[in-house]
Amino acid sequence: MHHLELFENVINDLKKDGKYRVFNDILRQKGKFPSAVWYSKYSINNIINWCSNDYLGMGQHQFVIDSMKTALEMSGAGSGGTRNISGTTHYHVALEQEIAKLHNKEAALLFTSAFNANETTLETMAKIIPNLTYISDANNHSSIIQGIRHSKANKIIWSHNDLEKLELLMKQVTGPKCVVFESVYSMDGDIAPIKEIVEICKKYNAITYIDEVHGVGLYGKTGGGVTERDAVEVDIINGTLSKGFGVQGGYIAGKRIFLDAIRSLAPAFIFTTSLSPVICAGALTSIKYVREHHNLREELYERSQKVKDIMKSEGIPVMKNNSHIVPVMIGDAVKCKRISDDLLYKDGIYVQPINYPTVPVGTERLRFTPGPYHTDSMIYDMVVKLKEALKRNKVTLHENCGTPDCCTLC
Ligand code: PLP
Repeated sequence: MHHLELFENVINDLKKDGKYRVFNDILRQKGKFPSAVWYSKYSINNIINWCSNDYLGMGQHQFVIDSMKTALEMSGAGSGGTRNISGTTHYHVALEQEIAKLHNKEAALLFTSAFNANETTLETMAKIIPNLTYISDANNHSSIIQGIRHSKANKIIWSHNDLEKLELLMKQVTGPKCVVFESVYSMDGDIAPIKEIVEICKKYNAITYIDEVHGVGLYGKTGGGVTERDAVEVDIINGTLSKGFGVQGGYIAGKRIFLDAIRSLAPAFIFTTSLSPVICAGALTSIKYVREHHNLREELYERSQKVKDIMKSEGIPVMKNNSHIVPVMIGDAVKCKRISDDLLYKDGIYVQPINYPTVPVGTERLRFTPGPYHTDSMIYDMVVKLKEALKRNKVTLHENCGTPDCCTLC
């Protein structure tokens, strides 16, 4: 292959800056979540997974697994086509109806991932609405950024969650506008002031588009997300089936006519094989179960708060937020990777280092996602080992600060 040296340069630079990503080879153990097995270079080790986005452990739930087995036996492995050409199975139809119900919307549309759903929907909307301007939160996910970029529409980046700035922009933009934001920002774990954002949008006739990927299944009385919890009506909801629902795939939900147009024009919806019916069956069961079992959400909040409280009492620099996500700021890529390796090799605690481009350089962190199946003893053990690893790697602990607001972390 020609120009291979250019690829080598990229890798060398990433390694030099501590940004090179190593994928840990693990295997989840059915029914034992969050226990897993890690295939290290020299041995096979039992580990506890502290960084899975299967927030409620639904990917291991027996009902979900059983429904996938049944679908597999009934209809085989794949869908066999695009949605238009024989790939719309009964499971796809039922799942879209269930998602619409979850969000109290007229209809929903499935995609192979929430990334695809964001990217292709935002790209396509701008083809339909002439002179559309996207007003996009500065911390929006890469799938939103890519979708807006590919749309070639006008775009304005709006400083993160800044309501005054948003209102100012609304006054400046004269044509049609769409405000794009997330509910739970997955790396800091902060939650957007959705009600206030939607009020401003209504005042200036803007379309509202929310990414609820880290909210669906987890917030609201039936897992409809933060929009359900806060009783706010957003025009278009984007969600995933891979995190709170533990399976795979993504979607948007909204007005029927809007979805009909997206279905008809969006390239990443049209020109790809539809999700396997097996996946759809699992996701369908998962949504039905999660909607009816609010105890799962309560357990998630309780576990997450417990981890935050204990970390804080031990002086661990846990970032403040109001969500289930527990980020611990390290602020250095090399150190972050070393601490993560340390925990995995020595203690069987798996928390992946989060580095650039997922977070800005200098804000590298360990992102913990405790869930209903992390026991008290797992939590206490993890915090003790984490504290030791932080000390070994010379991360400043906040043990003696005494005042609750001594810094942005306390
Ligand atoms: N939106 C946000 C905010 C995300 O964090 C992610 C993935 O992590 C996605 C969209 C994409 O979701 P999916 O994994 O279903 O593609």
